[in-house]
Amino acid sequence: MLYQSTRNDTLTATASMAILNGIAPDGGLYMLRDYSALELPISDFKSLSAQALSARVLGLLLSDFSQPEIDAIVNSAYHGRFETEELTPLVRVGDAHILELFRGPTSAFKDVALSVLPHLITAARKKNNITDDVLILTATSGDTGKAALCGFADVPGTRIIVFYPEGGVSEVQLSQMITQEGGNVAVCAIRGNFDDAQSAVKAVFAAAKSGCVPNGIRLSSANSINIGRLAPQVMYYFKAYADLMRSGEIAAGERINFVVPTGNFGNILAGYIAKRMGLPIAKLVCASNSNNVLTEFIETGCYNSRRAFVKTASPSMDILISSNLERLLFLLCGCCAQKTALYMDELKQTGSYTIAPDMLDAIKDEFFAGCCTDEKTFGIIGDVYSRFGYLMDTHTAVAYGVMQQFKANADNGCRCVVLSTASPYKFCTSVLRSIGGKIHGSEFDVMDELCARTNIPVPSGLSMLRGKAVLHTDVIDKTDILDYVLKKAGTSVW
Ligand SMILES: *Cc1c(COP(=O)(O)O)cnc(C)c1O
Repeated sequence: MLYQSTRNDTLTATASMAILNGIAPDGGLYMLRDYSALELPISDFKSLSAQALSARVLGLLLSDFSQPEIDAIVNSAYHGRFETEELTPLVRVGDAHILELFRGPTSAFKDVALSVLPHLITAARKKNNITDDVLILTATSGDTGKAALCGFADVPGTRIIVFYPEGGVSEVQLSQMITQEGGNVAVCAIRGNFDDAQSAVKAVFAAAKSGCVPNGIRLSSANSINIGRLAPQVMYYFKAYADLMRSGEIAAGERINFVVPTGNFGNILAGYIAKRMGLPIAKLVCASNSNNVLTEFIETGCYNSRRAFVKTASPSMDILISSNLERLLFLLCGCCAQKTALYMDELKQTGSYTIAPDMLDAIKDEFFAGCCTDEKTFGIIGDVYSRFGYLMDTHTAVAYGVMQQFKANADNGCRCVVLSTASPYKFCTSVLRSIGGKIHGSEFDVMDELCARTNIPVPSGLSMLRGKAVLHTDVIDKTDILDYVLKKAGTSVW
């Protein structure tokens, strides 16, 4: 089965080429038209381990890879690299369940996909006889950078440069990135904010189109517009369902809800794909912080990005243009690329668009949306900790709060699984304050204090950062980014 651009039916690619290209040549996103032939029967997945489930799902979604190829990729991506071989444990908290997606090497949910993507890229190079090195350029506001560095470090045939805004990431996130080891990794600060870093990276991609990148190098991207980052996320929805069946909490075929803290719409879209592959999902609940452009969209059908950008305590969800929503629109308008292209064009020209009423009805059938302010979020962290002894990060708490709104306003009686996207220790200042602690010293001191108060172990990847050698000190102006990339691309030893 071929992937195609969401904006043009004739721009098709195999799964492996879609992964190498990252984005379709017309700026659309690669997507399949039909998932009904990819059904994974419940009777099959109940007995599968997390890794086996991941391999089954990827084998179905990435059809030009053989199953033995995928099995090997999944094994090298995950084996021994997560805190548990279960990868994404499901924990009961009160009458809800929390699916912990942050047990990977960098304590962010992005590890689930970014552990797999480098291996997919390597295999895709071989399959398509591409001998060029793939150079990954990533702009990050914190979490993606480290997870991508960790995934790509020392993977043959790949190199990665991460750009972050100078002074714009937390102390823990900074320390995670600048201590990264590996002979193919570079980390560089940009004088400016995240948007400056991101537009500078986009400018390099545009310049590369005009042929200034040296022979032997191919640029690609590690963010969730790449289907190779989206596909590995579909697995954990099946995994959570299988866990609930195994523990007898649901019967086979019973429908459940998932509540997803959402930014770029990648995580929740993976849930929608799982549903199209036959998983009995009732509602997908889309949780936002005060940047609630998606809440408004799902309620009214009008997507309006012309609003003030709010800096919140859940920074990985501070986003006004949710790229992967384009993929949902494509599916919901009957895979009409022309219609999708019109909406995207309108967004680009005017900053907003309004979908047809039948599409809005279809969205409301499948999704519920809500949002939480920072104040509410802090209250939820404190409340859940005092009632159940369970400590959540700010992003997860946004989702928990929206689950409460869902239950109060639109309950369908089905069980709810909340997706937890980061370790509380990644946002320890907000979390410690929310449970009544006082903030003193550096973020590492706050981490110690949070651990002393809660007795919850600090993930080893975070505690070992203290005192680690700083390996990356480059700082550049955003106008110098192309020179920086070309210089790096021209040297084989970094
Ligand atoms: C990236 C991220 C999100 C948002 O996920 P999307 O796939 O962009 O919707 C939520 N929480 C955390 C901690 C993240 O790092």
